[in-house]
Amino acid sequence: MANHKTIHEKLNELAYNMWWAWHPRVYTIFRDLDRDLFRQHGRNPVAFLKHLPPEVLERRTADTEFHARVDRALRQLNRYLGNTQTWSAKHCGILEARPVAYFSAEFGIHESLPIYSGGLGILAGDHIKSASDLGLPLWGVGLFYREGYFRQRLDESGWQVSEYRQNDPGALPVRPAKVARGKEMGKDLAIRIDTREGTLHARVWEVAIGRSKLILLDSNVEENPLEDRQLTARLYGGDRRTRIRQELLLGVGGLRALYWMGVIPAVLHLNEGHSAFVVLEAARQRMERDGLTFEQASRFNATRTVFTTHTPVPAGHDRFDPGLVEQTLGPLRDELELSLHDLMALGRVHQNDDSEPFNMTVLALKLSRFANGVSSLHGGVSRNMWLDLWEDREVDQIPIGHITNGVHVQSWLAPEMHDLYNRHFTPEWPTRQCAHKTWRGIEDVEDEELWETHRLLKVRLVAFVRERLKRHLAERGWTGEQLEEIDTFLDPEALLIGFARRFAVYKRADLLFRDIERLARLVSDEKRKVQFVFAGKAHPQDVGGKELLQQIVTLIQQEPFRGKMVFLEDHDMNVGRHLVQGVDVWLNTPRRPMEACGTSGQKCLLNGVLNLSILDGWWPEAYDGRNGFAIGDGGAHVDPEEQDRRDREALFDVLENEVIPLFYDREDGIPRRWVRRMKRAIRTLGWKFNTDRMVMDYAELAYLRAAGGQLRNPRRF
Ligand SMILES: *Cc1c(COP(=O)(O)O)cnc(C)c1O
Repeated sequence: MANHKTIHEKLNELAYNMWWAWHPRVYTIFRDLDRDLFRQHGRNPVAFLKHLPPEVLERRTADTEFHARVDRALRQLNRYLGNTQTWSAKHCGILEARPVAYFSAEFGIHESLPIYSGGLGILAGDHIKSASDLGLPLWGVGLFYREGYFRQRLDESGWQVSEYRQNDPGALPVRPAKVARGKEMGKDLAIRIDTREGTLHARVWEVAIGRSKLILLDSNVEENPLEDRQLTARLYGGDRRTRIRQELLLGVGGLRALYWMGVIPAVLHLNEGHSAFVVLEAARQRMERDGLTFEQASRFNATRTVFTTHTPVPAGHDRFDPGLVEQTLGPLRDELELSLHDLMALGRVHQNDDSEPFNMTVLALKLSRFANGVSSLHGGVSRNMWLDLWEDREVDQIPIGHITNGVHVQSWLAPEMHDLYNRHFTPEWPTRQCAHKTWRGIEDVEDEELWETHRLLKVRLVAFVRERLKRHLAERGWTGEQLEEIDTFLDPEALLIGFARRFAVYKRADLLFRDIERLARLVSDEKRKVQFVFAGKAHPQDVGGKELLQQIVTLIQQEPFRGKMVFLEDHDMNVGRHLVQGVDVWLNTPRRPMEACGTSGQKCLLNGVLNLSILDGWWPEAYDGRNGFAIGDGGAHVDPEEQDRRDREALFDVLENEVIPLFYDREDGIPRRWVRRMKRAIRTLGWKFNTDRMVMDYAELAYLRAAGGQLRNPRRF
């Protein structure tokens, strides 16, 4: 196949489809050409190829094995893209002509495209990848953040400093989207949105993610005044005006862009409220086409709109005051023939309460017929939170259901675990990951084989941690002996507990540290060592979070914590991947019920890492008493301090009485009962907490019904 192409062309063809992000053996083709250069360019194949000296590639041209690897990868990619026997081909034929449009303010596909901050974005990335694997026609819609989300550095005092680097579209796997209809056909797509302050312009980038496509709107164009060119500079940066204009671009601009690209979606899926303005643009388009009123158009559109809410606290929802709404949406409001009061009412719980700001979640709930939370527990929390929106209903009749989040298996599973599954599961297991029986194969694996694989991953993690610490601590002024000492940090034979998440208050990264004496006793036991690795960013404006981080990193440099507790800077998908594959235990301490779902623990279980978690988010659905560990009994207390105190005690109790004894209970050097738990976690949870299952749920419970338009009786799902 394609033998007339040069090696450079072939590599570029591979690089421009982010399919490599979940095919480590393809990805390493790039890395193996020059490891240092690859890392220097942020492990980004496109940037790397641009900077790779031609001699290196020429030398490789003679290497037949290298050629064979590239050809095999290309063949595999083309087979993947051309596969007509997918799950969706069988079940979702109706979506072929008119796909799903999936709107999200962030997408975490790979660390080299830093347009995500955390869980929400990674979920969107995993969703789009599973849609591709299942053959489900889906277009992602997001924003191109030129400076992305911030990179975290700590200064000498442990204070978090934010750094921004420029994303150069010329060095990323993005290409200009093209107009596919009208007079401008074939030209680079540019979209316009009128506001009361003039017209907002944007260009559009297109990214291939396996079979799925992602478009990213970018306001950095000459036609815009400087202020608007900066609109899409940063993810979650800027003031209220920036925020509402970003959301205008995402929702209204996103749907317009799809229209000009010839994509008329059958289903609109709003991943969180940021994109809710899309329902207004959808109504406008339908009014224009079919001559309907706003009322008729939006009633019709609601039947094809799916809204996923992620935020269990009222304060977490985007709100805008009427002045800003009018400034931004005024011209669109004219076209919709709505008064400002009518428009504001769409975003208010109590329509006539003029003091209520415009709430994006309320807009999304009012104008969609499918709404869901992201775990069973969170579905219930959301029904209670939005009770007032349905005046005549009881809480169990509030039409907000749940579809529990999952993770994209091939993106988070260590290649060595993948090989282990290949040896013991049916060969087609990746396409049958939603079946219980697929995962039963884990029971046939010898304890030795699973434990050795896990140890190998842990040794690799420890090496990764030390190398990274050396690099970062050298920047923070450590020298000579101090740097050498890092080689003794973390013992790969001892229990290693991981904790990596945003330093948001409710996640309680400091729960362990609220009883320093007990913690010191725990880590000072030389016979049964306990070690911790932490990572996570505080929001740049969250002074409290940054102070907490500083306290922790300062404390753990001192005895008796030094070398047994470490903090890794700049948590991203790369750091996350190493952690979820290599620790023994994953610690999760949210203040119930604030964790809507949580997905990092799901990445862990696939790799045989045991969860130690508060019964919040997904964990109450998953924990059966023997497939991980629970902190406390799922109780909450009206006084958060009392709740924190109880949870802290419960955490120490379970560590001292269950986790540590089980880990150090060895037979022939192997913790048999621990390994039994690892297997049980994989067997009982692997089939469920993956995004194939999740996307199939969305397809069966929402997309298909929305696309068919036959939904009569909206009911919970
Ligand atoms: C998975 C992941 C998250 C989300 O973790 P939660 O468990 O939802 O807190 C955040 N950041 C990164 C880098 C991740 O990989």
